[in-house]
Amino acid sequence: MRPACYHASRIPFCHERHEGDLLKTYDVVILGAGHHALVLQAYLGKADLEVLSIDRRGVAGGALTTVENPRQPGFLHNTHSFFHRALTQMPWYRDLELERHGASYIEPALNVALVLRDGRTLEWWTDFERTRASFDAISPRDARTLESWRERFLPIVEEILVPESRRPPLPPADRARRLEGSADGRLLLETSASSPLAFVEREFEHPVVKAGLLFFNGLREVDLRARGFGHHIPALLASRGKAQMCRGGSAELARALVGAVREAGGELQLDTTPRRIRVEGGRAVGVETEAGDLVRARRAVVSSLNPQQTFLDLFGPDDLPSGWREHAAAFRYNLLAPLFALDVDLEAPPLYWAAESRPELRQAFMVILGLEDAGQFLEIVAHHERGTIPPTVMWGACPTLFDPSQAPPGKHTAFMWEKLPYRLGRDASTWDEERDAHARRMLDVWADYAPNLAHDVIDWTARSPLDTERAFPNMREGDLLVGAFSHDQVGYHRPFAGAGHYRGPLPGLYLCGSSSHPGGNITGLAGYNCAQVLLADLGLEAPWFASS
Ligand SMILES: Cc1cc2nc3c(=O)[nH]c(=O)nc-3n(C[C@H](O)[C@H](O)[C@H](O)COP(=O)(O)OP(=O)(O)OC[C@H]3O[C@@H](n4cnc5c(N)ncnc54)[C@H](O)[C@@H]3O)c2cc1C
Repeated sequence: MRPACYHASRIPFCHERHEGDLLKTYDVVILGAGHHALVLQAYLGKADLEVLSIDRRGVAGGALTTVENPRQPGFLHNTHSFFHRALTQMPWYRDLELERHGASYIEPALNVALVLRDGRTLEWWTDFERTRASFDAISPRDARTLESWRERFLPIVEEILVPESRRPPLPPADRARRLEGSADGRLLLETSASSPLAFVEREFEHPVVKAGLLFFNGLREVDLRARGFGHHIPALLASRGKAQMCRGGSAELARALVGAVREAGGELQLDTTPRRIRVEGGRAVGVETEAGDLVRARRAVVSSLNPQQTFLDLFGPDDLPSGWREHAAAFRYNLLAPLFALDVDLEAPPLYWAAESRPELRQAFMVILGLEDAGQFLEIVAHHERGTIPPTVMWGACPTLFDPSQAPPGKHTAFMWEKLPYRLGRDASTWDEERDAHARRMLDVWADYAPNLAHDVIDWTARSPLDTERAFPNMREGDLLVGAFSHDQVGYHRPFAGAGHYRGPLPGLYLCGSSSHPGGNITGLAGYNCAQVLLADLGLEAPWFASS
């Protein structure tokens, strides 16, 4: 019989525990075995530390999930992450030799296509010249604007923003001082003072271009109206990092990470829920589990969970310095991050009628539907604030166009995601009544663009923002970024002031999940940055970080 944790990825991660097992003492114990935790664990192992990760699920990798439809054998779905942005450029992908451990990535050339109701498209290609040509067909002036901002922002992205995401953040005053010392830094500070919405409204003219750019940015879940969040603009206009997918499914990246962890001597304790972080003499010294076991940690306990889980659920009221629990309780989640997901099993890929005049669309990777002008953003925000469902704007892909191994021969899988509020109507539980009806409406909208979906769907499955939280309680309120990107929760202040350097308030306690800088998504960088801090604190050599 398959264990409850079985996922289609064929990863034999389940580790059976027997009552009365004597649990070892490790150098480091990590709570949660999502990708940030695994990245950290692999580096610590390479530094010769004995490390255990503990996870409540029966499979490691967190949201790197690939799940087989239990009703339709062979149809695989990447339920909690699919588009892995510039993943192969991540320093840990190289250092941990993940290709040797089996990871392999695909980066389709027509990377993103916004399909309009009238059949026109706005396209982002891996080749910027083709992106420019697509913008030019919609608005020659906007194409010129895009090109000129891209040239100005490229060095900012590559020499400031990318390196900043790959190391522990500086205190804001030190950062500002450093940026003021260069022309690029000053331009970044000036742009940052704006809001993404104000910048795009000021610089671009065509409603479709504005909508496309903002949705691209909106994918990052910031409040586009927020002043001081203009630092997203350079990445939006100039980033060379494109969406990629893992061959075989997202869980194959988890499998490769686990391979790297195991090779470095790391262990995983799955199907295990922590009950308490043990504190002795004011120091974090281990983890007690719900099963009543104690795992001791000689050097550190690291949490990849959210601040409420870490500081409220796992510590006694007297274990933490005063004020710390209040900070954790006040940590907030992104209003706009929750997703509704629709996965379909298909006889044929979605055939967009717009491809009749634009055949390239048949090989488009990320497809955006329902978006026509920038004003829809404010409408979507207002619906989220009210807890109602906005007119459908959705995006997704057909993975099997690029990787046939994710469905039986000749068949296909596809999915669409939509930003919808966590609290629907009276509260989140309303989703259990509304989920399937909403999925059918979404499928109808999709079929307006791809008419073959009216007869080629073999089966479908939907998941609401509430389902996300049930699967991953760290994604509280369905927030897939595990914490709002607001002024007091970013950079040196993520998750909150005083905790933004991956260290907790007690000796031996560290943080490594998406609630730390640079935040959520499959970047591995919170784990990577925590590894830098922890290894430095332990006085251990870490040659890998010199070149990042
Ligand atoms: C529908 C959806 C689609 C997404 N698509 C993408 C995408 O295409 N690209 C992208 O980059 N990102 C995507 N994301 C976001 C991405 O999945 C997350 O930001 C990322 O996985 C966070 O990584 P993490 O390691 O911090 O946490 P997770 O991957 O969530 O891992 C946390 C781990 O902690 C465990 N855990 C939780 N609570 C406890 C507990 N109490 N005790 C023990 N263990 C616990 C969990 O079981 C899990 O294994 C998506 C998210 C969702 C919901």
